[in-house]
Amino acid sequence: MMSDRIKSDFPQLKTGHSYLDSAAMSLKPSRVIDTIDDYYRRLSVNVHRGLYDASVEATRMYEASRDIIATFINASREETVYTRGTTDSLNMIALALSEKFVGPGDEIITSELEHHSSFLPWQAIAMKKGATLRFVPLNEAGRISVENFRKVLCERTKIVALTYVSNVMGYVTPIEKITKLAHEVGAIVIVDAAQAVPHFSVDVKKIDADFLAFSGHKMLGPTGIGILYGKKKWLDMLEPVEYGGDMNEEVGKEISTWKEPPYRYEAGTMPVAEAIGLGEAVKYLEDYGMDNIARREKEVLASAISRMRKIDGVEIYNPGTDTGIIAFNLKNVPSHDAVSFYAENGVDIRAGHHCAQLVTKWLGIPSCLRASFYLYSDESDAIRLAEVTEKAVEYFQSLGF
Ligand code: PMP
Repeated sequence: MMSDRIKSDFPQLKTGHSYLDSAAMSLKPSRVIDTIDDYYRRLSVNVHRGLYDASVEATRMYEASRDIIATFINASREETVYTRGTTDSLNMIALALSEKFVGPGDEIITSELEHHSSFLPWQAIAMKKGATLRFVPLNEAGRISVENFRKVLCERTKIVALTYVSNVMGYVTPIEKITKLAHEVGAIVIVDAAQAVPHFSVDVKKIDADFLAFSGHKMLGPTGIGILYGKKKWLDMLEPVEYGGDMNEEVGKEISTWKEPPYRYEAGTMPVAEAIGLGEAVKYLEDYGMDNIARREKEVLASAISRMRKIDGVEIYNPGTDTGIIAFNLKNVPSHDAVSFYAENGVDIRAGHHCAQLVTKWLGIPSCLRASFYLYSDESDAIRLAEVTEKAVEYFQSLGF
């Protein structure tokens, strides 16, 4: 079976658990682990510095990865900055932009669907600069719509910082249309694509956003590496956020100059092994095909949702979800009690607010369960999730919940 072949690429699945927490972190295929292992065993040296063979080879691999990742999102290598992850990318760009582009009375558009990494940097900047945060009113289903975006967009809007895919609801934001409208009033658009890039084909030219961020560990790559995509005109114009080795051209007592992007934004020793590992992860995703991944996830999701909907005693918060994420609770059962039952039965899901407290507040709940799928998930996982859910409902009812 095709799915067995994919599952065998992921050594972590040997435990026999159904791993349904890929929205938090994806598993890693052997290919990626071997690539990282190879770098450490054969090279283990820094990039951009040495002229000896090992350093030249490490630099070649590190920069080749950048090319692979840039092509994957249809960007140029100058626009593809290595960072520690989405959080780092979003904080970095918020800081860089706030210096020049946000002042008293300016407006920043955000939403209640944001992950804390997308929301908190702008909340802090708004407070510091006397700017105003405007929230796109979510529609009845909890989605960001173009129509509602129009209601908060105005001449005072300077920044639009929105998620592409909600990490709790799985909804896809109509980001292309939103970007177009935002640009009409001269606003800068920043997209949190942490839950988008791993799951379907993302083309930065088509979206036309000014910045876009994602993490390696959610797309089969290692931890500690992510990407900040930025349009060249911005990266050329902005000042670095961090200063240190390898990002400078000429250092003098009074004044110093910076390298061209992307290097200007990569101060100090970067996560070299992780960058190389991310390149290999992207190759794996491309070999599988992003359209195939999206299709497969949709099939597994449809099966899981229809099974879960048939179970009395389950409340699903996003029945119309677009991507492989189901947010739910067992009625009257606190999610942290429920999640231990799943863990004991070999179904690895998450309970909590999922670093998106504005979402759970909007839903009017303290926390929820989240099951999330990826390309190694299949029908057997959907069946198991539903079976364990049925057992959990029975169990908690027998305890009088
Ligand atoms: N945004 C979204 C939508 C996410 O799902 C996550 C990870 N849960 C982040 C941002 C933060 O990513 P990281 O922890 O890799 O920086």
